[in-house]
Amino acid sequence: MKDVFSKVEVLARKFRADNGLSLTEAINVKSLVRKLNILTIYRPLSAEAAGLSLRTDDDDRFILVNSNSSRGRQHFTIAHELYHLYYDKNPQPHLCRVEGRSREERQANMFASALLMPYEGMLSMLPAEAIEKKRVHIAHVLRMEQYFGVSRSTLLLRLKEVDLITESQYEALSQLSVIQTAREYGYDVSLYRAGNEGLVIGDYGEKARTLFEQERISEGHYDELLNVISYGQGGDCD
Ligand SMILES: [Zn+2]
Repeated sequence: MKDVFSKVEVLARKFRADNGLSLTEAINVKSLVRKLNILTIYRPLSAEAAGLSLRTDDDDRFILVNSNSSRGRQHFTIAHELYHLYYDKNPQPHLCRVEGRSREERQANMFASALLMPYEGMLSMLPAEAIEKKRVHIAHVLRMEQYFGVSRSTLLLRLKEVDLITESQYEALSQLSVIQTAREYGYDVSLYRAGNEGLVIGDYGEKARTLFEQERISEGHYDELLNVISYGQGGDCD
């Protein structure tokens, strides 16, 4: 496999270690952001937007997630933003796009992938034969995407990156309908649907909700986003 010890893979492992998470378990991102005290707000953004994050000088952290994305994609977005919040050397307020191409965006995506789908975790969910012979079946794919809470496309890319499937298997598995296969195998399809609109996670929920209801939190309004956090602190603002 490639890049087992690449910088972001190591950072993803460190993040797990620092947060008491094993190298195989799935991450419940909502519980995680609550534990880390990151104010997290879900609201509809434009189609190409995934989310954004901010860290104030006082070390308050904030994430905005596009509730129009599928839940699987939302988990990925939060993991992506965790990279910016914890490891980005020079974080610049920016809207993270689904197809972000800058170096930082690619690093953040690689981190998110490694964090949500650890190699050891994927190995633990595959029979030895599937690993040895590279025979990963759609049933394994469904089990893994449901367990890790990620989209089909994200899981397949990760499987290919860590060399658990071949390029041609990747192509073949990518052709299958996500919803149809999930239904055939009896899975709940909410992972593949949008959701969580209006949800606020964090101690500053009340203030944030008020601002949310007033439509003051929106894409690109970084000053407003910063205000959410400073209002929440109950400091100088009234
Ligand atoms: Zn980003």
